[in-house]
Amino acid sequence: MAFALFRRRRDLPLSHVRLIALALLAVLLPAIVLLILQYRSLCDVQQTTRIAVRESLRKAAGSVAWRVQGDMERIAEEVLLPVPSKLFVKRQPPWTAECAQSVFKEHPEVEEIFLVINDPGDSNLESVAYVYSPSRALILEKSKWCGVDDIERATAAHERADLLAGTAANARSRFCYWQDSAPADGSSPSPETAYVSYCLLDPESEHEVGFVGFRLDMAQMREHYLPQLVSELSRNEQRGPASAELVLGVLDREGRQICSSAPSVASYAARASLAPVLPRWEATAGFRTADVDDLARASFEKGLWFTVLVVTVLLAGIAMIVRAAVRELKLAEVKQTFVSNVSHELKTPLALIRLFAETLEMGRVKTSEKAQEYYRIIYNESRRLSQLIDNILDFSRIEAGSREYSFVPVDLAEATRAVVETYEYQIRAAGFELATRFDPDLPRVEADPDAISQAILNLVNNSVKYSDETKQISVSVRMKDGGVAVEVADRGIGIPLSEQRRIFEKFYRVSTGLVHETKGSGLGLALVKHIVEAHRGRVSVESAPRRGSRFTLWLPAMVEANGTDPAAAREGDLVAQSVDHRG
Ligand code: ADP
Repeated sequence: MAFALFRRRRDLPLSHVRLIALALLAVLLPAIVLLILQYRSLCDVQQTTRIAVRESLRKAAGSVAWRVQGDMERIAEEVLLPVPSKLFVKRQPPWTAECAQSVFKEHPEVEEIFLVINDPGDSNLESVAYVYSPSRALILEKSKWCGVDDIERATAAHERADLLAGTAANARSRFCYWQDSAPADGSSPSPETAYVSYCLLDPESEHEVGFVGFRLDMAQMREHYLPQLVSELSRNEQRGPASAELVLGVLDREGRQICSSAPSVASYAARASLAPVLPRWEATAGFRTADVDDLARASFEKGLWFTVLVVTVLLAGIAMIVRAAVRELKLAEVKQTFVSNVSHELKTPLALIRLFAETLEMGRVKTSEKAQEYYRIIYNESRRLSQLIDNILDFSRIEAGSREYSFVPVDLAEATRAVVETYEYQIRAAGFELATRFDPDLPRVEADPDAISQAILNLVNNSVKYSDETKQISVSVRMKDGGVAVEVADRGIGIPLSEQRRIFEKFYRVSTGLVHETKGSGLGLALVKHIVEAHRGRVSVESAPRRGSRFTLWLPAMVEANGTDPAAAREGDLVAQSVDHRG
């Protein structure tokens, strides 16, 4: 493709095109391979991101369970662990009523504390049950606690929890936990309860005499403890991008939400049971605005866009380098052609001058008309020579930035007439019909007379050079768009539309048709353009192959010292005239 692209540029030789195409292949192939590898690695990264984010969410959910167990163990250590020493060492009752109230105050999650000694053995203790809640205190002997709901449910919970802890392979805690929300007797549903208990062992016989424990306040757990916990943990454990804020929550065993750290969540991607304390409930973790797949896709897309950006910049860089290389190659080519063209341009008139001068010197010319003709040829050729040299010198001054113009008021019609008159004889002698039209009373323009004459001469010269069968040239100067326009038209070979923009470039020559045979430097129009633009004017071309060309050089009219814009005044006159005429 690259090959075809450059091949279309007819001005580049095939060897250069091949070289550029090879260089492009050498750069593009590795770039494409890199792109494919990068794409595949981004896919892997997407997969890894998905796993990593899920894992971090799982940890976040696990941290809720971990904190709940930690908190409950801390409370159990404070409330339950001192009891055995009081009972067995100090022989004191476990709590006084005031001491029990301070427990409730300090730990609002505790709703009821109890001690049940149901099998004292040899421990000198009595079978007794203590039950304290914020609203009541019960101390009952064994014969009296039968039928007391609180004691019976606590005993059942402890027995089941103890059994569970005994069978659990990795019982993480020395405390027993039980959560119950099933109907206790199978008829009416019992309220949701959770217990933390601890076996009381006789220190001497290691015999289990009973247990001590507390019941959790489930309303307090639902409404205060867990909501505070999830908000605190979600604040501390922000994972993932800020837009995808971490949301922690707790669900009951039916999957209903108990609490959440945010009002909404995209989806809960990870869950962790709150076992052992509340095994029927689950902690959940997700992100507020995006699910895990969205996040992984976002990171993939970000990487992909970045890669595309880098590749685009890379390709743009390569394109610029190739462009510069093509330009350099073309310039080298053009300079080479320029040198050969200019040498030819210099050689031909010099050879003619020498030939005719020699002929004259040797006195071989018989008639004075013939001598006259030879003088004229010598004169014309030397003028052509000096014009070419002028162009080259001017061009080098322009390139060096040292070309200076001396602006003076110039009558463009007069300047054009002078150029045409100087060359009229030569033009007509070459078989051309020359038509001129110079409108009277044109405003003056601010111009460098030599430079402008040189520009006009270049246009006239080109009309002569690029005409073949139909030899007609017309030169006119007239008012146009508030300025003065010099038009040089011919019926020559014309210029294809695709080339018209480029003929004003330095060294550029149309490479087809008659131009092949006509020698030139490719500097004439580049100079015209530069001169005209330095005069704040413009040059344009209308042309069609084999129909001829019309070059228009336009310069703005000068504002005269009396402050009037002569162009405007003149246009005003014209309007007035046409009005008068109609009137
Ligand atoms: P040169 O005439 O020395 O080649 P110029 O800069 O004067 O350089 O012109 C550039 C090109 O524009 C020419 O090579 C020719 O192809 C085209 N050109 C200029 N004037 C004419 C014209 N009057 N008719 C047809 N082609 C023209």
